[in-house]
Amino acid sequence: MYNNIEIWFVTGAQLLYGGDAVVAVDAHSTDIVKGLNDSGRLPVKVIYKGTVNSSAEVTATFSAANNDKRCAGIITWMHTFSPAKMWIKGLQNFNKPLLHLHTQFNKEIPWSEIDMDFMNLNQSAHGDREFGHIVSRMRKSRKVVVGHWSDTGVQERIGIWMRVAAAWADAQEMRLVRFGDNMNNVAVTDGDKVEAEMRLGYHVDYHGIGDLVAYQDRVTDSDIDSLVAEYESLYDFADNCKKGARDYRQVREAAREEIALRRFLQEKGAKAFTTNFDALHGLNQLPGLACQRLMAEGYGFGAEGDWKTAALTRTLWVMAQGLPGGTSFLEDYTYHFDGERSAILQSHMLEVSPEITTQRPRLEVHPLGIGGKADPARLVFTAHPGAGIAATIVDMGNRFRMIVNNVDVIEPAAALPKLPVASALWIPRPNLEIGAAAWILAGGTHHTAFSYALTNEFFEDYADIAGIELLTIDEHTTINGFKFELKVNEVYYR
Ligand code: MN
Repeated sequence: MYNNIEIWFVTGAQLLYGGDAVVAVDAHSTDIVKGLNDSGRLPVKVIYKGTVNSSAEVTATFSAANNDKRCAGIITWMHTFSPAKMWIKGLQNFNKPLLHLHTQFNKEIPWSEIDMDFMNLNQSAHGDREFGHIVSRMRKSRKVVVGHWSDTGVQERIGIWMRVAAAWADAQEMRLVRFGDNMNNVAVTDGDKVEAEMRLGYHVDYHGIGDLVAYQDRVTDSDIDSLVAEYESLYDFADNCKKGARDYRQVREAAREEIALRRFLQEKGAKAFTTNFDALHGLNQLPGLACQRLMAEGYGFGAEGDWKTAALTRTLWVMAQGLPGGTSFLEDYTYHFDGERSAILQSHMLEVSPEITTQRPRLEVHPLGIGGKADPARLVFTAHPGAGIAATIVDMGNRFRMIVNNVDVIEPAAALPKLPVASALWIPRPNLEIGAAAWILAGGTHHTAFSYALTNEFFEDYADIAGIELLTIDEHTTINGFKFELKVNEVYYR
């Protein structure tokens, strides 16, 4: 997991306390980095880059980090006092995620042993405040984690930031393919792609659907045979989809589209894509099954040209690598009003990732009353109960706004025999009345990127790194408080 990146660990010191002190600082730092790496709680390897004792050393280290493609961020720690003017030039140019680990080598005060030398050597409480000042003075965003480095909670918080840093690095090299444009007249899924590339990193490319049709035409029958065999091993087939039955042909056409789409994305080096049911010329059916399966492989997906949600789905998937739970594109579909248990049925025409169910999906083919194409194949399942987070990014004109809502997925009260699509039923926190009102007041999308694997801290870290607005709707949200936050943010981002 995250094998292509590393996080650098840089310890601040100075030569005031003599060479012996620097040697001790270096030894302690080596121990800490080893302890962090050996903990098994950090998803990215930490590389110790030594102590920095002057402005020239700081600047050289940060420049090297900027230029090293493997480096996804830096953790800093001040073992002793490190006069912070020496950090200015390095920080001015540093353009990757920063975590300030406010820790110290020893866990407890050695009551009977402590003397002035010990105090001078172990003064993170002192030195880290000096460092914190300059980072704040320079208005640089960073995560501050406080606690002893051997503490489980500290390691987990570093781990979260590492996952976000990994997703951030991934987004800086994300190419996103759009087949067709945004759905005509839809506002919330549109936005400024130039600003998105400057602010969020990803690059959005347009392709006519004919480009995909050309790939589809090169898919062979034997390619399709092996993919359908894979479907048979993974999914239950509805009777009309089985070999020899009426819609088996539609399953094969779905496989053809999937193979073409995967090859196209691979050859373009794309990590995310969008489709548009208005732009399917030359395709047999809406690529539902293909989108579901590609999402589970980590391709970000957004329907109707929704490139922002496609990119965000990819980013959430990267953050969640190796964690239990799954990630998917979803859409608020229809309500079930039931007092405090009022819930939203989440689905889409077809495109929901099978990562969010513990069921064995069922492969089905049914007519689709939209798009005017042949009957599409899709995986049908229900998302399992559990806590998750739905997220979106909207373009407010002068800024990107991320909105996240903690939700509780619940078991549906009954089956949906006439709605053969994948779905999830959830109650937004704190409840539907407040959750949906806040979401709407914030201008949130009907599309979201959803994950069971992530907590609010991931989004906090992401918004800090990206420098975008974050609005959180959770169990503590009140409409009064939320409206106040919206107003304050209007001033802040003016
Ligand atoms: Mn939609």
